[in-house]
Amino acid sequence: MAHYRAELTGVFGDPVDDNPTIVLEEAGYRALGLNYRYLTIRVLPEDLQSAIDAVRVMHFRGINLTMPHKIKVIPMLDELSQAAGIIGAVNTVINDNGRLIGENTDGKGFVRSLKREGVELSGKEVMILGAGGAARAIAVESALAGAQKITIVNRTESSGLELAQLVRSQTTACAEYVPWTEKLTVPESTDILINATPIGFTPDQGSRPDIDYDTIRDDMIVSDVVFDPVETEFLKEASGRGARIFTGIGMLVQQGAMNFTFWTGREAPVDVMYDALEKELSGNK
Ligand code: NDP
Repeated sequence: MAHYRAELTGVFGDPVDDNPTIVLEEAGYRALGLNYRYLTIRVLPEDLQSAIDAVRVMHFRGINLTMPHKIKVIPMLDELSQAAGIIGAVNTVINDNGRLIGENTDGKGFVRSLKREGVELSGKEVMILGAGGAARAIAVESALAGAQKITIVNRTESSGLELAQLVRSQTTACAEYVPWTEKLTVPESTDILINATPIGFTPDQGSRPDIDYDTIRDDMIVSDVVFDPVETEFLKEASGRGARIFTGIGMLVQQGAMNFTFWTGREAPVDVMYDALEKELSGNK
């Protein structure tokens, strides 16, 4: 019998036009010969409930949420994963036969991107620049993956203090907030330093977080959430001091790969997805 209906997935956001997730998910669907589509959909804040209703009535397999929907979507769902509940934000919805389950794969994507290259979080001291959505997900998942200490550095004190308190209350890791002073010193004991702010994102690619780059040591791991440009000024400075660097592409692909598996039930072709995104972002289309 003919089967013309595609399975639907996608992302809701506003703004959303420059969200590149379609590139990696569609590359994965093609590689496995799946009749799935990934749609990049502009949904205004006041229309989120209607859009979530559409997920149900149009039998979407799942949907990603990006700015400004990650928190507001929570009461519209039927269930939350443990991590999404702790983080207080959802970036992925899975439609399980009409039950909408909220997940957060941002932080897990970060942990998996390190693990894939042989780096474990267990016992590590982690310093995170930023206390927004990405920082929250990375802090919580790093702590759940066994990090010993999480230090949150943020411009705004209230959200930094709140995130440190969240990690302390919900995980076994130690956590503290450090104010972001000029030319911030990275303590020698830091194992992993992460930029979880948007500083350095195109078209702002010339800027970098205000830290004392000479306090980055060659035994540190330095990672960025910014994925465009792939190699940010922050990562270039770190790499110039001998640190091992991880780009934002790894995190993006790994969370996309987890979502792929949630939606299709198939193992994601991670290498295909990674290559497709890297090619796209390096402008070599
Ligand atoms: P939020 O708006 O939730 O948080 C932004 C954070 O960055 C806040 O802590 C904010 O501090 C801080 N910040 C912003 N500008 C500055 C500045 N000029 N100086 C100092 N601090 C600053 O954003 P998200 O956490 O959702 O996203 C952050 C970045 O991560 C985005 O660029 C996003 O694209 C990227 N991202 C990448 C992913 C990946 O897979 N690679 C996944 C998810 C996000 P304050 O509290 O003081 O305002």
